Amino acid sequence: MVRPEDLIHPRDAIMHAMGRVYRYRMTTTSGGNISARDDDGTTWITPAGVDKGGLTREDIVRVRPDGATEGRHRPSSELPFHRAIYAARPDLRAIVHAHPVALVAFSICRRVPDTRLLPTARRVCGPVGFAPYALPGSEALGRHIAAAFAEGFNCVVLENHGVVTGGAGLQEAFERFETLEFCAKTIIKAGLLGTVRYLVDEQAERPRPTIATRPEPRPGPATSEEKELRRQLAEFVRRAYRQRLMISTQGAFSARLDAESFLVTPHRVDRSTLEAPDIVLVRRGAPEPGQPPSSAAVNHGAIYAAHPEIGAVVTAYPVNATAFSVTDAPLDARTIPESYLFLREVRRVPFGDGRELAGLASLREPVLLLENDGVQVCGASVLDAFDRLEVLESTAEAMIDSRPLGAMVPMSDAAIAELDAAFAKGE
Ligand SMILES: [Zn+2]
Repeated sequence: MVRPEDLIHPRDAIMHAMGRVYRYRMTTTSGGNISARDDDGTTWITPAGVDKGGLTREDIVRVRPDGATEGRHRPSSELPFHRAIYAARPDLRAIVHAHPVALVAFSICRRVPDTRLLPTARRVCGPVGFAPYALPGSEALGRHIAAAFAEGFNCVVLENHGVVTGGAGLQEAFERFETLEFCAKTIIKAGLLGTVRYLVDEQAERPRPTIATRPEPRPGPATSEEKELRRQLAEFVRRAYRQRLMISTQGAFSARLDAESFLVTPHRVDRSTLEAPDIVLVRRGAPEPGQPPSSAAVNHGAIYAAHPEIGAVVTAYPVNATAFSVTDAPLDARTIPESYLFLREVRRVPFGDGRELAGLASLREPVLLLENDGVQVCGASVLDAFDRLEVLESTAEAMIDSRPLGAMVPMSDAAIAELDAAFAKGE
């Protein structure tokens, strides 16, 4: 099957990926390089010495299989290691390299992030390799990095330098890069809260539940109501991506359409580019034909069936709230009135298949910390769920930021009772 990304010219794919890496502060203006390789051995790579914030397609350099270059700039000075990796791993067709802050923190401590932090991180990145230091641009650096890739790693931390990820295409290489940086950030934040808990291989690599029912064609054309809800969901997922509440590979958002159907994000479609037609309709437990729904759709469906008052559910992985989910630190929302009113009592759910989530879901206590699996937030509407998710992440971040300042003082019981009286629970 031809994937949509296979029809994009490498100049555009590289320009787009570099822009994304820069926009979300995963590189500096001068750092980082990206390449993609064609079947005939041609390599396309970012140029040396050009502002990464404003690359155009003509800036991308073409390197012929014999090493001859074409373009208005010189190729990146790190071309030698890109070529060394491709030589060692014929299965890889794209490489992303940069110096994102959290992975640099690992790199300068000579450590690699343990991706068994979250099942998605394990699935996307696999275990992470390490390459010893060598001069940037040198053949020695190429040998060190290629040796780590030759062992089978698809993500390699470079000692006192940064990270390199590879993929069968640029989308996969980018997803590994972004997911690994997210994982590194979460481990660092979680370390400020206490002992970080990792999954064992069996838990981290267990297949996710999927809707077992066969797809069924929809009974009739989509109503305007459904189209409106699709638009809203797609818009809020892209917004969640921009706000760093989700990353390209993680996060599911759904909304109830009527008593027997709901709409949900598709399985493995980049969250940053999601459009209304990508959203999947699930009716009486069966998805419509096409891209399957997010694996979280199983649990979301069970929640809608059990709770008529719940109109939207989001499963997300914002860094700070996720840091709480991988430690035993309690997330006490009695920080400021807004946090308490939006979040109430934040409960934790042990790592598992999520079958118990429908029983625990409610609008009175809308937030669940899923151990080593992010957070789940319910709302009466898409906006309501999104709003709570934002408040949750801000609350978690403020609590982590308060650590160096002193012990947090929760609002008093009297202040909470006063809030409860003024704003009736569940409203
Ligand atoms: Zn570098």
